[in-house]
Amino acid sequence: MNRRLSKKIKVGSIFIGGDAPISIQSMTNTKTSDIESTVKQILELEAVGCEVVRVTVNDMAAAEAIKTIKSRINIPLVADIHFDYRLALKAIENDIDKLRINPGNIGSIDRIEAVVKAAKEKSIPIRIGVNSGSLDKDIQAFFGVSAEGLYQSAMKHIKILESLEFYDIIISIKASNIEMTLEAFQMLANEVDYPFHIGITEAGTAFRGTIKSSIGLGALLLQGIGDTLRVSITADPVEEIPVAKEILNTLGLRNFGIKFVSCPTCGRTETEMIKIAEAVEDAVKDINKNLTVAIMGCAVNGPGEAREADLGVACGVKSGLIFSKGEILKKVDESEIVATLVEMIKAY
Ligand code: SF4
Repeated sequence: MNRRLSKKIKVGSIFIGGDAPISIQSMTNTKTSDIESTVKQILELEAVGCEVVRVTVNDMAAAEAIKTIKSRINIPLVADIHFDYRLALKAIENDIDKLRINPGNIGSIDRIEAVVKAAKEKSIPIRIGVNSGSLDKDIQAFFGVSAEGLYQSAMKHIKILESLEFYDIIISIKASNIEMTLEAFQMLANEVDYPFHIGITEAGTAFRGTIKSSIGLGALLLQGIGDTLRVSITADPVEEIPVAKEILNTLGLRNFGIKFVSCPTCGRTETEMIKIAEAVEDAVKDINKNLTVAIMGCAVNGPGEAREADLGVACGVKSGLIFSKGEILKKVDESEIVATLVEMIKAY
C-alpha cells in the first residue's frame, strides 16, 4: 500500500509523519497529579512497546506534575488540554513534548496567540483533535455530525494555527463510526499534508474494542492514512499496545515479530494441533524476526496452502512434515514438532 506523504514533525525524541515509522500511542488513566501512579503506568506502557504517551492536564496540579513525570520516563509526553489556555502555558513551561488542544476552543485571540507563541519558541507541536462527540456547535448546526462536519471543524482549527504561522500540526479526527472517520480523513488528506493521528474512539471493551479498532484502523491504514495511532479500548491501557502492534505487524507496516499462519483445524486433523500452534507462538513471542511461520493441520492442504511461509509444519498422523516455502524438509514425531520448529525459527 502507498502511505500518504505527510510532513515530518518532531515530537520529543521521535518523529511523526513523513517516512517515520507509524508510532503507537496510549493514554494514562491515572490522576496526572498523582505522580507515582502516573509514572508507574507510563513505565508499564513503555515496557510493552508504547512509543508516545498522553496524560490529561485538567488542572494546575496536573500541569505542575509534568516536569517530574518527564524526568522519570523515556518516551515523549503529550498534554491533553481542553479550554484552559493557562494549563497549556504551564505545560509548555514544563517542557511538554506535544500539546493536544483545539485552538478554537481556548477563547480570545490573545489567549490563542500566547499559547502558539510559547509552543513555537520551544518547537512543541500541537495536535488538533476533532471528535464527533464534541463538534463545535456552529459547525454541527450547519453540517450535523457528519464527515463534512468533522472535516470543517479540523480545517477551522488548522486555519487558526496557520494564520499565526504555526505549522507543526498533527491532526486527529475521531468518531466511533468507522465510515465517517475514513471519509473525513480522506477529505482532509486532499487538503493538507500534516500528519494524521488515527483511532476509533469509544471502540468498546477489550473484545469488541479490539475488533472495531482493527477494522477501523485497518481500513484507514490500507488507504495509506495514519502516521501515529492509538487503539482505544475500555481496559487497562497496557492492553492497547499489543493490539496496536499486531495491527501494524499484520499489515506489514511495522515489524513486531513473527507472523503466523495456522489453519482452523478440521476432521482431517490427527494431532493436538491447537496446542502445538499455541506452544510455538508462545515460545517465540519475544523473537523479532521478519518471518512467516505456518502451522497446518494436515498434509493434504498444509504445505500448498502455506506456500508463502518461510517455515512450517503440516501435521499428519501423530507426526509432522516440516516444510519451507512449500518444500518438505523432513518428517518428525508429534512430540518433536514444537521443539523442531522453535529451533529452526531461532536458527533462521
Ligand atoms: Fe483441515 Fe488440513 Fe485445512 Fe487444517 S489444513 S483445516 S487440517 S484440511
